[in-house]
Amino acid sequence: MRNALAAVLLAALAPAAVPAEPPRPIPDAAALSRLEAQYAPVDLRVDLSALPGPERLALTKPVEAARIMDALFLRQVWSGNDELSLRLLEDTTALGQARLIYFLRNKGPWDRLDQMRPFLPGVPAKPPAADFYPAGATREEVQAYLKSLPDAERERAGGFFTVLRRDPAGGIAVVPYSVEYQGALARAAAVLREAARATEAPALRAFLEKRAEAFLTNDYYASDLAWMELDSALEPTIGPYEVYEDEWFNAKAAFEAFVCVRDDPETRKLARFSAELQDVEDHLPIAAEHRNPRLGALAPIRVVNEIFASGDANRGLATAAFNLPNDERIVHEKGSKRVMLKNVQQAKFEKALLPIAQVVLSIEDRARVAFESFFAPILVHELMHGLGPHRITVGGRSTTVRQELQESYSVLEEAKADVSGLFALQRFIDRGVVERSMERTLYPTYLASMFRSLRFGLADAHGSGTALQLNWFLDRGAVVPRQDGTFAVNVKKMKEAVVSLTREIMTLQAKGDVGGARDLLRRLAVVRPVLQGALDRLRGVPVDIAPRFVTAEELTR
Ligand code: ZN
Repeated sequence: MRNALAAVLLAALAPAAVPAEPPRPIPDAAALSRLEAQYAPVDLRVDLSALPGPERLALTKPVEAARIMDALFLRQVWSGNDELSLRLLEDTTALGQARLIYFLRNKGPWDRLDQMRPFLPGVPAKPPAADFYPAGATREEVQAYLKSLPDAERERAGGFFTVLRRDPAGGIAVVPYSVEYQGALARAAAVLREAARATEAPALRAFLEKRAEAFLTNDYYASDLAWMELDSALEPTIGPYEVYEDEWFNAKAAFEAFVCVRDDPETRKLARFSAELQDVEDHLPIAAEHRNPRLGALAPIRVVNEIFASGDANRGLATAAFNLPNDERIVHEKGSKRVMLKNVQQAKFEKALLPIAQVVLSIEDRARVAFESFFAPILVHELMHGLGPHRITVGGRSTTVRQELQESYSVLEEAKADVSGLFALQRFIDRGVVERSMERTLYPTYLASMFRSLRFGLADAHGSGTALQLNWFLDRGAVVPRQDGTFAVNVKKMKEAVVSLTREIMTLQAKGDVGGARDLLRRLAVVRPVLQGALDRLRGVPVDIAPRFVTAEELTR
């Protein structure tokens, strides 16, 4: 699963009710460059100097395999993509070049930042079935077909790693990916095996060999398990994973790859934070009976730097974090692994967060924005999901916060992870786990970061949860609007507001108080005029980044 912001952005930019609009013209070369300019170009570099020679070779090969995933993903998005990309490649006019660039950015002729609006002439609307289901079939026909199958066969036909095609008799046939994409997957498997021979890390070798095997046998189970256990200097993720392109059933996995290298300093920091979590839980600003005296084991989190991304992992918005696998069998047995892409976050910080800070923060606070204070809350957010109330008792009944809070659950849980993360970081500062100097940058950076999240709208839990926090801080004088339209942080009041909001949310969760939760969200998970004014002034700031994989290019040259 992907950082939710990708989905949010699409929803946010879509007006809630779309009035009948005259069709907009197909963009010309100048308009296409303006669209592409929403993505600020950035060189993605990774320092590989500490990497031994064999591992460097083991890194080069997955980049080659990842390029194959790009081509496979294009085919999966739409059956017409292959032919269209060839046509665009041949068109050497300025318009043709601009079209090719935006086509590759979006992995198809539809604008992923603008409700999938076609930006090339003569293309259909984006097919919600992508290329996973038989040409000309309806959703109902496929659904009826799946229903008609015996259980085991239905599981295969409706599963992650098969496509459905017309058979010669006009019925439907189930085709495994290993057959549908045979040539490309055989090449990818061969390259991964070369990488497996090169590496000296046993866990990495096991993953690469098993994933190569999976490409040929279509059985991904063992390689997914090997990926979960992987904790080596190289962290490749490659294969069919996310199901967003299948808008009919969210069932079919799209090809993608992230080729990454572990970030050791951040990994040590994460271990330091993790060791403090019971202390944080023991001091949460809630009634003692709501605290958990023994926290359970943590799901694995890896902090890495991205060398290369392709396919579903490199279309439209750049993925900054992901959670895999999606296969419920693995999730049930082993949980899932969260991977944070630090250099991608850093690029977003430089290209989007700093410009946002220039527009919305007071002059004094602008000078107090730092990457470390952008990234640490993102890491701690993930950890904090494990703290606070989860299993609760309501009226003598054993239940969960999720069940009791219903549709309010996600927004409150995201806001909780954010605000209690600030609470935890302040405690780390006070106990010397992180340096005292962070206190100076933590809150102003967080304020700019809240405006960044708010830009993506209220359609999703993260955006709504941000609005809730921002309004809580405004109402308590922790964030102060200035005459010139900027906002200033009052650190003393901010610390108090972080404590009071953590208490408010976690107490609603502990009591399973759905009425209270709904009331809080109705009042505060809104964009007030003062916030809307700031959002309006952010219009010219890039929405995201366009990474150039310069280290990967140097490696494979
Ligand atoms: Zn979260």
